[in-house]
Amino acid sequence: MAKIKSNLKGWKPGVPNVKPENRVYDYPIKTNKKPKKKDSLLFGTGGVPHSAKIKTHPSAVKRLSELGLSVYEMEFVHGVRIKPETCEEVKKEAKNTGLNITAHGPYYINLYSMEEEKIEASRKRVIDTALALHSCGGDGACFHPGFYQKRDENEVYQFILKQIDEILDYLQEQGCPCRLDPETTGKGSQFGSLSELTKMAGSLRDKNIGITMDFAHIHARTAGKENSYEEFSNQLQMVKDKLGKKGLKSMHIHLSGIAYSEKGEAHHLELSESDMNFKDLFRALIDFGVEGRVVCESPALEYDALLMQKEYRKLNGS
Ligand SMILES: [Zn+2]
Ligand SMILES: [Zn+2]
Repeated sequence: MAKIKSNLKGWKPGVPNVKPENRVYDYPIKTNKKPKKKDSLLFGTGGVPHSAKIKTHPSAVKRLSELGLSVYEMEFVHGVRIKPETCEEVKKEAKNTGLNITAHGPYYINLYSMEEEKIEASRKRVIDTALALHSCGGDGACFHPGFYQKRDENEVYQFILKQIDEILDYLQEQGCPCRLDPETTGKGSQFGSLSELTKMAGSLRDKNIGITMDFAHIHARTAGKENSYEEFSNQLQMVKDKLGKKGLKSMHIHLSGIAYSEKGEAHHLELSESDMNFKDLFRALIDFGVEGRVVCESPALEYDALLMQKEYRKLNGS
């Protein structure tokens, strides 16, 4: 029996308030028609799509391309483990299909751990993510930077800023062109509010850094706020103010439904079962002229990625 936290929110009324577990996604997939005009937002999945024949990175790239999707985010969330020959295969498959490859670094990253050796290990995990991604022909290494652990927020900010600055210099020395995209996190205990990350990327703006804007996390982090056209517009304005227009032209976005409590994120949900107002989000993204990648992190993966793509194209007049 799934543990149900009675105070969890985020579900659409009428949908059972339990975590969707062990679901089998094998129902028919309907792909979308080719757009009349070029998409400014490209869609894809975080992790191997359910309908990939085998659960490997190269097979994921191939399958997403067959579905008319354009982005594959490799999940190194339990460690950066990929063989050099697999990297080569991904690179080849990405070249053949034109897919964009990105990566999500390990969850066990805390760039301001209380333990020195864990900081060093965390730095290595970020670096390994970027290097592996580069070997796969991709760009855009996303990761959750760390935790406050009840310390002063500015102190944590300053420390993590320094770590990321040094990692960026190291990657440049190594000739690794992968951009680092630290992610807006879903819980108040995690470093990574939108204002912290835009401030950080803005202050390092001459370096190879962006942000990952996870709109579901921002919604959950604020316990249900940040879910209207006006609020999405304010977020995008903040990106524009801190990172300039450039910040809106190569955005890395995560999206899913999400369950949350007062403490923030509980877990991801399918879009149709959640309160995530993705249509108004797309309206705001279109009105701000945003270009970039949208990675679907819902449990339904490609099913929801295709739904996002469909709604986006409808609103974009294509
Ligand atoms: Zn993430
Ligand atoms: Zn995310």
